[in-house]
Amino acid sequence: MLRLPPFTYLAPKTVEQAAIWMAEAGTAGMVVAGGTDLYPNMKRRQFEPKVLVGLRGIRSIGRISGDRRRGMTIGAGVTLASVASHPEVAEAYRALALAAGAVSTPALRNMGTLGGNLCLDTRCNYYNQTFHWRKSIGFCMKKDGDICLVAPGSDRCWAISSTDAAPAAIALGVQLRLVGPRGERVIDAAQLYRDDGIDHLARTPEEILAEVILPPADGWRTTYWKLRRRGSFDFPILGVAAALRLGPDGIVEDARIVLGAVASRPVIAARASALLVGQRPTVELVARAAQLAYQPAKPLDNADLTIGYRKKMARVYVERALRELAGLPHEGSPGGH
Ligand SMILES: Cc1cc2nc3c(=O)[nH]c(=O)nc-3n(C[C@H](O)[C@H](O)[C@H](O)COP(=O)(O)OP(=O)(O)OC[C@H]3O[C@@H](n4cnc5c(N)ncnc54)[C@H](O)[C@@H]3O)c2cc1C
Ligand code: SF4
Repeated sequence: MLRLPPFTYLAPKTVEQAAIWMAEAGTAGMVVAGGTDLYPNMKRRQFEPKVLVGLRGIRSIGRISGDRRRGMTIGAGVTLASVASHPEVAEAYRALALAAGAVSTPALRNMGTLGGNLCLDTRCNYYNQTFHWRKSIGFCMKKDGDICLVAPGSDRCWAISSTDAAPAAIALGVQLRLVGPRGERVIDAAQLYRDDGIDHLARTPEEILAEVILPPADGWRTTYWKLRRRGSFDFPILGVAAALRLGPDGIVEDARIVLGAVASRPVIAARASALLVGQRPTVELVARAAQLAYQPAKPLDNADLTIGYRKKMARVYVERALRELAGLPHEGSPGGH
């Protein structure tokens, strides 16, 4: 049996207090929300914090407020189940509700939070293993070792951003409120992510993600398509979040396409989005956009299924997502169930 190592658990009542305690804990501290990813990682000694600052007692981050006209705010401590089932979120910010509803299993969605999902550690077949498994192959540079086992000549880690919510948040134009011991800042969701499998978040260790700020829904249609081996339970091996704003004449006024699980951070397919703007979405146009969108996807051999299949499916899933938003016939269904 894998056991948790001993640690000190702190239970702040405010986000500000959590940030101060994180600063005091220094490198020994980590934030825990639902614990659905952090505790298994601690059992496998991927994380070895001596102090955990738990967010569950902070009531201010457990609420959803606002409406689609003014925009909405979702506290980082809101569970994925609540995000997925919230009627206004599910209708006006569908990509986020679909992504939250596609994470793992009902049990984990009842514990796992939106904040924990957005701050999820990157993943790799050589890293998400027990301590003894990793020891048997000499460890790797993400934890306890010094080379990358996927790309031994590389000086960086290529572990994969595997959060379902992050691509959806970026496609929706979401902003994030981060609270530190000396104040707070608001950033675009895309700014949280760095292209580095180890140092993958642009937040300081003591900063707490407090709120997810959704802009007015403003005529956007959004969706999230997820590829995984098993239609429940599994992490994404590809996530496609897409957003289209169509004018009254059916012309695309704005578009955003974001790919998840193809790199160490969500990948924005800017050229594909630009192609769509000012055009009427047709089967041919959507196919051309999908062709452009999948080019930046460069999967490595460190996740489930083959690289070639994952790359090809990026094109297929972008095409299906855009067809769905444009009201064109398509195969399959979003969410990935
Ligand atoms: C079997 C299994 C299957 C899974 N499948 C999926 C999946 O399909 N898709 C998916 O996206 N995830 C999946 N997960 C991962 C995880 O369950 C979810 O990502 C969940 O949303 C994490 O939220 P949490 O509140 O439990 O985070 P925690 O486990 O508490 O924390 C996760 C990370 O975020 C940090 N953190 C948490 N909250 C904050 C905050 N407010 N501010 C700053 N840092 C914070 C923690 O320090 C930690 O590094 C799976 C996990 C398991 C065990
Ligand atoms: S990509 Fe390389 S360094 Fe990163 S976790 Fe995998 S094997 Fe380790």
